[in-house]
Amino acid sequence: MSYDLLIRNGRVLDPTHDLDMIADVGIRSGRIADVGSALPTAQADRILDATGGWVVPGLIDLHVHLSSEFNGAFAHAMLARAGVTTALDMAGPVEDVLEIATNHGAGLSIAILDRIKPGERVASSDPTAAEIRAAIDTALDHGAFGVKILGGHFPLTPPATRIVFEAANELGCWNAFHCGTTETGSNLLGLRESMTLTEGLRAHIAHINSYCRGAIRRAEDEALEAIDLLTERPELVSESYLAVINGTWGNIVNGQVESGTSRNALVQGGFEATEAGLEAAIVAGYAHVHAREGDQTVLLVGSAGVDTWRAHGTFTGMSFPVNPPSPRLMLASAKTSSGRFVVRAIATDGGGIPRNDMVASGLRLVDLGVLTPHEWVIKTAAAPAAMLGLADRGHLGEGAAADVAVLDPGSASVRTTIASGNIVMHGGVVNGKGTRILTTPRGEAAVRARGLEAQVIAEHASGLYAAVAE
Ligand SMILES: [Zn+2]
Repeated sequence: MSYDLLIRNGRVLDPTHDLDMIADVGIRSGRIADVGSALPTAQADRILDATGGWVVPGLIDLHVHLSSEFNGAFAHAMLARAGVTTALDMAGPVEDVLEIATNHGAGLSIAILDRIKPGERVASSDPTAAEIRAAIDTALDHGAFGVKILGGHFPLTPPATRIVFEAANELGCWNAFHCGTTETGSNLLGLRESMTLTEGLRAHIAHINSYCRGAIRRAEDEALEAIDLLTERPELVSESYLAVINGTWGNIVNGQVESGTSRNALVQGGFEATEAGLEAAIVAGYAHVHAREGDQTVLLVGSAGVDTWRAHGTFTGMSFPVNPPSPRLMLASAKTSSGRFVVRAIATDGGGIPRNDMVASGLRLVDLGVLTPHEWVIKTAAAPAAMLGLADRGHLGEGAAADVAVLDPGSASVRTTIASGNIVMHGGVVNGKGTRILTTPRGEAAVRARGLEAQVIAEHASGLYAAVAE
């Protein structure tokens, strides 16, 4: 029995196969070949000692940003360092994200949602059905896995929002919603409204914790209401993240802070929602400007932050420490009476935004007993794989894709990331190359035309459209 790679003596955690044991994992031709005790080492081309570590399915992050505006050129390596092997880009633009994936890949698999943003794919906040359909057609033909409405930042009217969901459902592609329309906002009102706007349809409701920051009710009460709303709608796909900081834009357009989320954050922090208010917030250390340092995104405040923000004409990523702790813990752990997680996955809203913390923060939840080790794997790998419709990922069964992360549980860090059987990151050093794009049948040609590998998931075949048991 020969292996290309043998991972030895780690604690293998695979809830899909109810595995929690010290074992070896043998990999051959990019697939899991064997999991067991004392697998033969003699025929292994390479041996990785995982003693003291956890061996888990490669993490699948259902909410990342890989575009140039969020330092996408670094994002693939940042994900590889975080143990992520598959990720869903939640804003596009699809051409930009594909370009970066071509030039800066780290051996990962990604799917891309293209944004339906007024002034880009559609002219205004109230586009016609024909305009919306054309925008989705363009996105899919260019290789996108689906579309996203960035309602909390760049809202559409409620009727136009509904039309986007209807059109995406008809086409069978992914559709995600950062809640908020021209009538509501990126808060609990937006989340409530999303339940009506998606009635009878399938959708991915993004970063549930973002609507539970205490803007409308007490933050804890907002989280309880969010849990109730989602419990009633088990067919909706959702994720929440664990970081204190959010991720938004510093863009000043026509003298105004363009993003509604950024305006909310300024008000929440006691600053004016204006250009002067944003500058004051950067100086005060509340608004964090995304900047490049080495091969990572870092957060700058004070005069260095203002200088970077101005040097980019205000078009930088921006983060504010706006996520209170209780909703993050509640949404990460809440279950229905039948034992299903109400919020399906833990994601990060990271990528080029420096908060790829599914391991760094997620294993703290395990330390606290908020999640068991198996539950953590369910929320960071098994459930997201099912949502994307990837039956051969999110577990370590024989024949599964050899996407594996080796973790150091004591320091809540990632030792090694393996994608398709290749070591793409070890000890912080990223060696992975290339990108595999998860796309629809319509996008395959555009992806291959760039020299990228394509994995096609048919219309209505993702977990977004899967039958729901309860
Ligand atoms: Zn996001």
